[in-house]
Amino acid sequence: MKNVIYLLRIGELNQSILSNLKKNLEDKFKEFNIKVEILQDVMKLKNSEYDTERKQYEAPKILKRLVETAKIENFFRILGIIDKDIYSKTYNFIFGIAGRGSHAALISLARLRESFYDNISVIYKRKESPRDFEERILKEAIHELGHTFGLKHCYNNCIMQFSNSLADTDKKPVKFCASCLQQLKINL
Ligand SMILES: [Zn+2]
Ligand SMILES: [Zn+2]
Repeated sequence: MKNVIYLLRIGELNQSILSNLKKNLEDKFKEFNIKVEILQDVMKLKNSEYDTERKQYEAPKILKRLVETAKIENFFRILGIIDKDIYSKTYNFIFGIAGRGSHAALISLARLRESFYDNISVIYKRKESPRDFEERILKEAIHELGHTFGLKHCYNNCIMQFSNSLADTDKKPVKFCASCLQQLKINL
């Protein structure tokens, strides 16, 4: 369907994470007349997508399957959500991946939890907040979808800033800067 972002579970994923993301994304994309739906299917992970030495999944391989699904189903956009650590060749890990101007994106929740890191409490000095976790998921989802809408990384105070760490993700706002917003409206 036109102007619908479809959310797809990849492997095991908590249902409430998905429904919160749907609600939050819908809020953010309402002004562009874009809806969000949760697909009932689950994409199963393949052994060939797992690197046993790195103990991570290879994101581009999963993204490729999402791109194929989008093509077959004629989806406007598909966003895969995985609760496992992912990487691509050039990075030790990534929070998400998307081809610029493509119809598919992928985000990983693994490193959005403070409990993933050994010494993060030194930085934050507080208990993990479920609200922070929810907002990080939203930020990474919007960021990767932004790439599918043709946006590049941005150096303004903007959700399209590149994140190299959880602190980077926490620092960036949950909105597009004026210039990205303008570009987005042209591309939509
Ligand atoms: Zn990016
Ligand atoms: Zn921007």
